[in-house]
Order: sequence, then C-alpha cells, then structure tokens
Amino acid sequence: MPSEPVSTIRGVGSDTTKKLARLNIRTKLDLVLHLPHRYEDRSVVTPLDELRIPKEYYYVQGVVQDVALKQTKGRSSAQVELSDESGGVLTLRFFNYRPRWIAVFQKGVWVRAYGQLWGEYRHKSMIHPDFKTFNADPGPPEPEFVPVYYATKGLTSKHIRSLIPKTIQEVNLLPKFAHFDMTLADALQRCHNPEMSSADVVRKGPRRRVAFDELLAYYLLQQRRRLQHKTFTTRILDRKSHLIRDFLDSLGFQLTKSQETVAREILADMSSTRPMLRLLQGDVGSGKTVVATLCILRAAENGVQTAFMAPTELLAEQHYQTLSEWLDPLGIKVGLVTGRMPAPTRRARQKAIASGDDLVVVGTHALFQDSIHFNQLGLTIIDEQQRFGVHQRMLLRDKGNLPHQLIMTATPIPRTLALYLFADMDVSRITELPPGRQSITTTLHSDKHRAEVIEAVRRHVERGQQAYWVCAAIEESENDEQELIGTEDVLKELAMKISSVRVGHVHGQMKTQEKHATMHDFRDRKIDVLVATTVIEVGVDVPNATLIVVDNSSNMGLAQLHQLRGRVGRGADASFCMLNYTNPLSDTQRQRLVRLRESQDGFELADLDLQLRGWGEVFGTKQSGTENFRVASLAHDRDLLEEVNTVGAQLIAKEPELAGKIIDTWSPIESDYASV
Ligand code: ADP
Ligand code: MG
Repeated sequence: MPSEPVSTIRGVGSDTTKKLARLNIRTKLDLVLHLPHRYEDRSVVTPLDELRIPKEYYYVQGVVQDVALKQTKGRSSAQVELSDESGGVLTLRFFNYRPRWIAVFQKGVWVRAYGQLWGEYRHKSMIHPDFKTFNADPGPPEPEFVPVYYATKGLTSKHIRSLIPKTIQEVNLLPKFAHFDMTLADALQRCHNPEMSSADVVRKGPRRRVAFDELLAYYLLQQRRRLQHKTFTTRILDRKSHLIRDFLDSLGFQLTKSQETVAREILADMSSTRPMLRLLQGDVGSGKTVVATLCILRAAENGVQTAFMAPTELLAEQHYQTLSEWLDPLGIKVGLVTGRMPAPTRRARQKAIASGDDLVVVGTHALFQDSIHFNQLGLTIIDEQQRFGVHQRMLLRDKGNLPHQLIMTATPIPRTLALYLFADMDVSRITELPPGRQSITTTLHSDKHRAEVIEAVRRHVERGQQAYWVCAAIEESENDEQELIGTEDVLKELAMKISSVRVGHVHGQMKTQEKHATMHDFRDRKIDVLVATTVIEVGVDVPNATLIVVDNSSNMGLAQLHQLRGRVGRGADASFCMLNYTNPLSDTQRQRLVRLRESQDGFELADLDLQLRGWGEVFGTKQSGTENFRVASLAHDRDLLEEVNTVGAQLIAKEPELAGKIIDTWSPIESDYASV
C-alpha cells in the first residue's frame, strides 16, 4: 500500500527512516512524490582537454595513468590521474578513502566518471565523482539521464535513487485519472526513470502532470471544506442599533464606495445562520480597520465579543489605541492582550474577558493561549493574514462556538490566485484608496550619496514633517555576511550629522512599555525621525510621517518594500520614499528597485515579485504553511489554475469518489483535518 511507512521498504532501517522524515518523507507514497529536482545528462562524454568551466558537471572517460596517496593540510587523499586521446588530463580525488575500493584503480584501467570540475588548466580535478571502472575500452556510453534528489545530511541523492525502484510499483494503486494523456502513475514513472532525450521534456511534460494533480487535490480539498462549512449554523447577528450611525458620524470622513460595498457584504454574512468565513483584501492604506470596526459594532449590538488578532505587538497596541479612541465614547470597552504583559494586568484582562466586560479584545497570538476564556465570542478578526497559518486561525476560532470570521490582508494576491488559494472562503476587495491621498515619490540612492539622503531628512524635518528610517535589527549587522546597516549605526550617524533632529528608536526586542512610549511620542510629534526595524512594516499609521528612508533595500522583496512604503502617503501631504542600496547590485535587485520606483500598484508589484522570487518568499506562506506544495510552484505552474478549476468542478459534480481519492493521494492528514 502506498500509505505504508517507509520502514516497510526492504533495506530501510530506523536510521534511514529518521533521515527520510527530515525530508518529510514518511510513507512510500511520500517517497515517490519526492521528485528529482534536476537530471544529470550523461549522454555526452567530454574530452579531457575540453574541460573548461569550473563547477560545471561533466561526464568523462579516460585511462588511469597513476595513483598517488597524498597528505595535504593533514588530510590524506588518493589521487587518480586520468588521460584520454585528446591529450588532456584530470585528477580524481578521494578523501577518507577505503584502501579496498581504491584498489580498483590500477594503471591502464578505464574509468568513466561524472562530477563537478574544480581547478584550472593543469590541475583540473573532480572530488568524489560518481564512477565506474572497466578492464578494456568500454566504447561510448548508453545515454542516461540520472535523477538527482534533494538529499539531507547522511542521506545522499544516490541512496534515495536506490529506494525508488523498490517503491515505484506503488503508483499502480493511485487513482487512474488521465489528464494531458497521462495518469499520475505514468507521469511519476517518467519523472523517476526519464527515457526521453532531454530532461527538459520531463520538466515540461510529466512533471507538469504531477503538478497538475497536486494543484487539483488542493482545489478539491478547499471545495470540500467550503461545502462542509456551509452545513454549520451559528448565531445570527442581525440586531441593529444606533451604534454604527453614531460611529460613522464621529469619524470625520466619509467611507469610500469600496468600503461601503465590502461592509455591506460582511454585515450580510453576519446576519446569516452560516458562520462567516471571509477574506478582506485591500492594499495598504485602503482603510480596512474602519470596515473591521463596523463589524465589531454589529457584534457589540448583538451582545457578543470580538477577538481582533494582529501579528505584532506594535500593531496590536496600535489597533488597541485606535479602537479605544473610537469605541470608548460609544460605551464599548476594549482590552489588550499581549505575551509580555505583567502578571497582574494579565489576570485583570482574563477576568474582564471571561465576564464579558471586555467586549472587544485586541491582541497578538497570546489571544489563543489556554488561560483566555471568552464569555461569548461571536466574531474573530485576523489582521494581516499572511503572517498567520490556517492552524492559528482555527485556534482562535475554537475560542468561540463557531464565531463569524473575518480575515484581512494587504497582500495584493492576483485574483485568479486568490480565488484558488482561498477557495474555502468568500473574498471581498477594497479597490480604491481614500480620496486626497498623495502619490509617493520614490527615489534610489547608492551608498555614495548617503550624505544627501541625510540632508533631505534634515530639510524634511525643518518643514515640520516626520520621517521613518528603516534598517536592520541591531544584532543582524554583526554576523551577517552582507554587512547590513543596523539601527545603532543609523542612530550614531544621525546624532553626528543632524544633531538638532529629535530621533526615536523602536525594534522588536524592546520592552512593550518602551515601544509603546516611543510610538506615542512619534504620534504626538515629540519625535521627528523614528529609526526602526521592519517591525513597522505592517499596519503602523501616523499620517504626519511623510518620508520613509529604507536601508539595505536591495535585500528586500518588492512586496515588503511596498508595505514599508505604505507607511507614508497616509495624510494630505506629498510623501517620499528613499531607497538606499549598496553597490554592486545584481540584475534582479536593480530591476526590483526600478520597478518599485515606477509603480505604486501593489498587484502589479506582487505579480512581478512572484516571478522573480517565487510564491513562498513573496507572501511568507512558506512559514505560515499555506503553500505546502511538494511539486507544484505557483510561480511556474500558475497557468494551470484555470484548467484545475474546470476539471475540479467537473470531478466534484460527476465523480465525487475519484475526487476524494485524489485528495487522499496528496494530503491524507489535511483531509482528516478538514473533517473535524
Ligand atoms: P489599512 O487598510 O492599511 O489597514 P487603515 O485602516 O490603517 O488602512 O487606514 C489608513 C488610514 O486611512 C487611517 O488613518 C484611516 O483612519 C484612514 N481612512 C480610512 N478610511 C478612510 C476614508 N474613507 N477617508 C479618509 N481616510 C480614511
Ligand atoms: Mg491595517
């Protein structure tokens, strides 16, 4: 059975089992789904005098001329010298060799080897190449494409390759569903045993078929969850009072059309017996917090509590402040829960939450710790969803009895992707920014022009405006090979060059109180320049701050830089973003920065970042676990999604049993989870 553990494979003991587990390979099926990440092309033998490019892999054939045992820097090695008809020579080097197997290299023996080239001209060598020996001229080799697998310490690609023939027959038990003229089993066979003349064909054909299956399985799973969710019923929150009206009157601005539309969608969900599960997408600064507040008020009108979770302490505190300002006058009490609260404060909060006195509770993931019990949790809101995993959302949900869930994100996920990835949810989108927003002028500055940047900050402050200066955490600058500029460096620099400017400092490791006080001072304009780590990346909102300087910008992704830039341009004044970089820049780095200078469209930037860096990096989903794809890549296989949707919908309608099997093939654990 494909679901049997790898320990049932002949020759796999507990040691290998453990090592395989490090690669997330636990069952026989996991093993066959672990595809080669490249193929060695062993079809062409390169004459020894044509070995040119260091670090390139070559296939060679030659006759042993000499075998020497050498001592270099305390390590002994066996050096086997080869030559061929071209007149070139090559040394094969083996460290920690066993005399027994070095003995095969007798003078005059033929050797065929595959390995990476080291060294120059006369001293070309291969270290521990893969090799075969022959007693006579073996002639040209049979062309071979050898799969190379991601390996781990103590478990080589070769070892993994040797296990494949013992398990590959398991694929015959997989669902026999043909697409692209292949079943999954055919495709897997061909990926592990490529017969074709080019590895490229594998990448484009069979690998794509496997990727298709995986994307399809995820689609089917999401649809199943969606259907299950629809069967749940919960408390309707449809009582209306004057609260929302009063709040809107006190705001001092009108909602945008877009805010009104999404608010209507969300409030309609909340007044249904089906628990809401809705993703609210909106670019930085589009005003998601106000919309969330309307939902909080609706929950409050109906006497149920709201839990509002943010990914960082800084953001939680800021939301706490904003919500208190808005809700206190309406007689709604807001509480704050973070991981670093002093014990007496925490106990007081726990009590207020349990009694229902705190009608709104803002916090970090400290919100779902065991000691927090809600009196009646009716709504959960998650801000900046990309920082959380599905599991964390579930933990928060489970604090209530099927509460309505609103999930907010500033990540500009392209529509087809959003519909695919969040197919279990409904999606709302804020498509416009509040009126009067100034565009942000973005400029690039190399380290040579640092003095001018500092001067620009001085002038900016003189005009009565404030600035952020974002750099690396202090610790990072010490051991990072790339020498990032840290907050301490910038603080010193500013103190020396523009001492008249009032500078504050926030970073992740700071005590909550201190952070709070500094942010407060910045809001109250007691600080002109806030030197900060990327802790300010999400959510921080100070409209009078109209300049942001970013150090080490070439090391960051577009999506992150776009988020950072979104800290400014929030008031009525023109705003600026200065990106500092250190030469030399790679092509990709330069391209990223230039595109950022030219575009303020979050969707366009996310799309580009996706192509340049891949999905996991861009959206941080690798950490948060949204993307657990083993073979498919949303950057490269995105064009398959439309077909995945069509085929998926057909399967659900016509062959539900097969659909279930496809889910099970890829994610038996996930599918269990969904049925909880
Ligand atoms: P985000 O969507 O990034 O979370 P926020 O909710 O923090 O955005 O809103 C950004 C700023 O815009 C806040 O200062 C907020 O008060 C303000 N704002 C929100 N909606 C409007 C609006 N319709 N008109 C004017 N300002 C608004
Ligand atoms: Mg926000």
